Amino acid sequence: MENPIEKLSNYFKEFPGIGERQAKRFVYFLLHKNPNYSKELGDSIVSLKNLIHQCPSCFLFFKGEKDQLCDTCNNPKTDKSSLLIVEKDADFENIKKSKNYSGMYFILGGLAPIITKETPTFLRLKELLKTIEDRAKSNTSLKEVIIALSLNPQGEHNDMYLREKLSPLKEKYKLKIVSLGRGLSTGTELEYSDSETIKNALSNRQ
Ligand SMILES: [Zn+2]
Repeated sequence: MENPIEKLSNYFKEFPGIGERQAKRFVYFLLHKNPNYSKELGDSIVSLKNLIHQCPSCFLFFKGEKDQLCDTCNNPKTDKSSLLIVEKDADFENIKKSKNYSGMYFILGGLAPIITKETPTFLRLKELLKTIEDRAKSNTSLKEVIIALSLNPQGEHNDMYLREKLSPLKEKYKLKIVSLGRGLSTGTELEYSDSETIKNALSNRQ
C-alpha cells in the first residue's frame, strides 16, 4: 500500500508553484493540526465542485447553480456593447472591483505559450469566437472588444494572436478591437493592478 504521507504529498505537488519540499510541509502541517481541521478542509474541497459553477457566458467561477449566468452577465445594467477579454478569474475580479468598467467580460482560461503552432486546449478560443458572433448578431449588439492581457512578452504575443483570430469577425460585424496597455508599465499584471492604473489603462485603450 502506498505511504499515506507520499500519497497526499503527491496531490499537493500538482498545485501551481508547489514543489516536493513544500508539499511535504503541508502534509506535516496537517499531521500537527487537530483532526477537525482536516475534516473541514476535506469537506470544503468536496463541496467546492457542488457550490461553485462556471458562468456559461463569461466562464467565471462563481457560487451559483449549473448553467446559471453570473451576476455580471445577468445584470441588465451591464453594458452589452463592450466585451473585455482577460486571462483569468483573478483579473476579472480585480477589474470588476476597480469599478472602472461596466461592460461584459470573457475569461480566456490561460495564455498560449509563445512558441506554439496549435491552440492549447485550455484556451477558450472557439468559445470566444462563438460569444462574439452571438453578441454581435443580437439586438443589443456588441461594438467593441477589449483585449486586456498582462503586459509581458507572453501577453503581447497572445494579444497579436487574438487580433489575428478575431479579424474575420471584426470585418464581418464592423467591430472595434482595442487593447489595454498604454498607461500600464511593462511587466504589469492586471491581477495586482490598483484601481487608478486600471482606470488609466482603460481610458488609454487603442
Ligand atoms: Zn458571466
